[in-house]
Amino acid sequence: MEGYESENYRLDFEKERFVLKLYANTPELFRFVTSEDALLHHLAPSLKDQIPYPIQAVHPKVNDNGTFSRLLTFIPGQFFAEVDKDEVLLQSLGHFLGKLNQASQDFSQGDFIARRHRWDLQHYYLNRSYLPYIKNAAQRKLVDYFFLQFETKVLEQYQGFRRAAIHGDANDWNLLVRNGQVSGLIDFGDACYSPLINELAIALAYAVMGASDPLQVAQTVVSAYHKVMPLEANELAALYYLVALRLCVSVCNSAFSKLQQPDSDYITISERPAWDLLERWISINPIKAKTAFRSAAEMPATSDSLPAELLRKRQEYLGGSLSLSYQEPIPMAGAAFQYMYDLDGNTFLDAYNNIPLVGHCHPTVVKAGQKAIANLNTNTRYLYPELTEYAEQLLAKLPAPLSKVFFLNCGSAASDLAVRMARTYTGAEHMIIMEHGYHGNTTTGIQMSHYKFNGKGGQGASKDVTVAPLPDAYRAGQSPKATTRTYADLLKERLALQSEPLAGFIAEPIVGCGGQIPLSAGYLQEVYAMVREKGGLCISDEVQVGFGRLGEYFWGFEMHGVIPDIVVLGKPMGNTHPMGAVVTTAAIAEAFNNGMEFFSSFGGNPVSCSIGQAVLEVLEAEQLQEQARLTGLYFQARLRELQPDFPCLGDIRGSGLFLGIEMIEPKDQKPATALAATIKNEMRRRFILVSTDGPYDNVLKVKPPLCFNTQNVDTFITNLTEILQAFFN
Ligand code: PMP
Repeated sequence: MEGYESENYRLDFEKERFVLKLYANTPELFRFVTSEDALLHHLAPSLKDQIPYPIQAVHPKVNDNGTFSRLLTFIPGQFFAEVDKDEVLLQSLGHFLGKLNQASQDFSQGDFIARRHRWDLQHYYLNRSYLPYIKNAAQRKLVDYFFLQFETKVLEQYQGFRRAAIHGDANDWNLLVRNGQVSGLIDFGDACYSPLINELAIALAYAVMGASDPLQVAQTVVSAYHKVMPLEANELAALYYLVALRLCVSVCNSAFSKLQQPDSDYITISERPAWDLLERWISINPIKAKTAFRSAAEMPATSDSLPAELLRKRQEYLGGSLSLSYQEPIPMAGAAFQYMYDLDGNTFLDAYNNIPLVGHCHPTVVKAGQKAIANLNTNTRYLYPELTEYAEQLLAKLPAPLSKVFFLNCGSAASDLAVRMARTYTGAEHMIIMEHGYHGNTTTGIQMSHYKFNGKGGQGASKDVTVAPLPDAYRAGQSPKATTRTYADLLKERLALQSEPLAGFIAEPIVGCGGQIPLSAGYLQEVYAMVREKGGLCISDEVQVGFGRLGEYFWGFEMHGVIPDIVVLGKPMGNTHPMGAVVTTAAIAEAFNNGMEFFSSFGGNPVSCSIGQAVLEVLEAEQLQEQARLTGLYFQARLRELQPDFPCLGDIRGSGLFLGIEMIEPKDQKPATALAATIKNEMRRRFILVSTDGPYDNVLKVKPPLCFNTQNVDTFITNLTEILQAFFN
């Protein structure tokens, strides 16, 4: 049999079997195999007949043909990979590894300690360099994520972990089983002097593959190991990340091997379980894993900070006008792509937060920020390439004549600036705004936001705004075309009463806070013409819908076949890093250049620009706009399937992964506010994040990170169905 570094022959004699190994005679390999033999000799008394024993007489013998050979005893047994993994077997695995590591602890030998090879987990970076060879960007991000998590959360302490000689590859084809128990371990070719915990981490990465509950399987092994070889708290805390690290090292190596052997199906097939496990592993909250491993080692859970304490301090130090989501607020601890982890170890499926566009903590974005902030963070009064590069890339996404960009740090600052620009350009003050629209928290932002000034605590419309009635075809009970006619005419009537000159019109293409309501088809074309005729500018607020979320369209205005004079950008632009921007025409930018400097201390800084670039890069690499389109279509189809059984699902609307589900009373179509709130809170109890909005708070808002996939949609639909069934029974 071909091995990694040797040819292997089984020698069968009447009473005994042996394994003959032939190696290329390089000094390095010779030295290492000598050390390996020393380790096997060292372990032999404790693991008699359970590990290969080097036959002294031929050890290691150099042959004339430039090879050297060694003879080992043959260890019989079935492969761990080929047997059912019941509790007893898993316990025996933990016990066996514990015994092995007990025995190997005091082995030390210079050549062995100095060895540095790519399967030794402490030298993970040797395989990490193969990361670019992983062709699928969505898979690559997963591996990159875990490397980054390891480096951020473990690496520093890891350097101080206790070390020992370990087998280093207790995978399911090296472990042997007899009578339902682990009975042996072969192939010490990857043995190394490494942090001791790597032994267990590597074994676990294989032992839990394919398990319906990988954490529970891991817990059983850890518990049995700990009874023989007590684990330390820092090792248990690192274990979740080290299991992932081993899987990452393995799939990186497969990617490289595929490059060497492009026609080999074997590599693709054999790496599949590792990918499956990585995808499962990321849905496990690391806190849950840590608690499970500590419990296996009879250590209590650690509590970093208590939710009740967080709530109390929040009330003490922060203003009461800040709100908290859900009847039972969530103490958040971390996040990965479409998952969020709370302090209690739960994993939430995020179907709601639209800001982490390409996924929470996406490694490409995080690393772009880390690298940039470690180098230089300054402001637009200096020259640096990040600003101009990002401006160029962003503007390439917008149609002519939109060709000048102003960077800010949030959507509010951007909408405020957009209105100021319109006012400067036209010399007029008056704005048309959309009923139920929201544009920001600045003084001007509130004046432009019917959602705020018309709501609780609001002061009503200022004299400088005219409110355009919302062209909501569903509520109007008309066709989109008829709705457009009615609502464009209504606005025309209101404007006729208005004698002030017009500065502009601001609206979202799909009104988010209004309840995810797409402006009826053709409406913006009519209104833009009306506004321009009166000398006003047209502003599109793309803060919620922009950057590919709508699937078919990169920008919301494309959906309506219009080109605005000014575009407002925010939220997803920096994938949670605070960014905003205004994009406009050269003529408007020139008019705004009236002698007063425009300056934002942080807008356009090199760190933000690097992050913005990374977001665009990931959108492209992972084809996330297309994913939003396909997943959105699937989502809408699955929701529509539910409508006949649940007529409370009044309207299902939106585009891509920007959806609204309007809950109604079936008998009279009135808004079902209480039902929407029940669903929101029940979903939260079932670890799915969704929210409600609209003037009656009866619309479920669905706007997940764009990596949300059809399995995630299925989870959402299953839970929604169960909640509705329980509600109506
Ligand atoms: N415009 C729209 C459409 C928004 O939804 C928001 C935020 N909800 C803003 C502007 C303001 O953005 P920010 O909160 O980043 O200031």
